[in-house]
Amino acid sequence: MKILVPVKRVVDYNVKVRAKSDGSGVDIANVKMSMNPFDEIAVEEAVRLKEKGAVTEVIAVSCGVAACQETLRTAMAIGADRALLVETPAELELQPLAVAKLLKALVEREGVQLVVLGKQAIDDDCNQTGQMLAALLDWPQATFASKVELGADTATVTREVDGGLETLALGLPAVITTDLRLNEPRYVTLPNIMKAKKKPLETLQPAALGVDVTPRVKTLQVQEPPKRAAGIKVADVAALVDKLKNEAKVI
Ligand code: AMP
Repeated sequence: MKILVPVKRVVDYNVKVRAKSDGSGVDIANVKMSMNPFDEIAVEEAVRLKEKGAVTEVIAVSCGVAACQETLRTAMAIGADRALLVETPAELELQPLAVAKLLKALVEREGVQLVVLGKQAIDDDCNQTGQMLAALLDWPQATFASKVELGADTATVTREVDGGLETLALGLPAVITTDLRLNEPRYVTLPNIMKAKKKPLETLQPAALGVDVTPRVKTLQVQEPPKRAAGIKVADVAALVDKLKNEAKVI
C-alpha cells in the first residue's frame, strides 16, 4: 500500500506575522519558514505505519514555490521514501481547492490507497483541503485523527470529539487528517538529513497534471488585531465593580 502525505511550507509557528502596510496580505519576506506542524505529524504517522509493515511506500508532496524542496527534504529525513514538488510561481496564491485538485491528480497517477494530510495549515487556517480531496475522489474521510490502525482493506480511526472519543472504520482507499495528539514527531537526525539528500525528488507543473490552479477566492484585506490598551489600577473592589458596570458595561 502506498501513502501520499501532502506537506505545506508555512511561516514557522514561532514567528509573529505582520500584515503588509497596504493590507494586501501577510509579509513573509525574510521570515523563517517550516513544515506545517500538522503535516509533520502526518509524515511521522505514515512512516510509523510503514515501519509496522502495512505500507510499502510513503510519498511526500508539496505544492508551491521551488523552496518547498526544503520542506520535502525534511519529510524524507523523517522517513518518506520520495517526494513530488508541484511548482507554482511565487505570485500565485494557491488555495485549498486548487491543492485538492492537484492532489487528486497525483493520487491517480501514483495509485495511492491512503492520503494523510494535516487537519489544517497554520498560515491560512482553512481546514478544507483534506475534506475537498475526499469529495473530489469520492473516498471516505476521517478528520482530526488521534489514533490510526491499518488493516488489509480498512482503516480504524479514533477522533477526539466534544466530551469523548469517536471510532470510525473506513474502507480503503481513504483520506485521513491528523490532529495534534496523534503522535510526537521524531527528531530529525543528521545522518537522516544526509540520506534524505539522496532520495528522489521529482518536480512537476500543474499544467502537466491538467489542473487549473487559478484562485477562486479574493482576499480583500488583511488587518492586524487592534493593539491592546494599557491597563489601569483601581483603588478597591467597589471601584472595579463600578468600572465593569458603567465603563466596560460587561456586568
Ligand atoms: P488547509 O486546508 O489549507 O488548512 O490545509 C490542510 C492540509 O492540506 C495541510 O495540513 C496539508 O497537509 C495540505 N496542504 C494544504 N496546502 C498545501 C500545499 N500547498 N502543499 C501541500 N499540502 C498542502
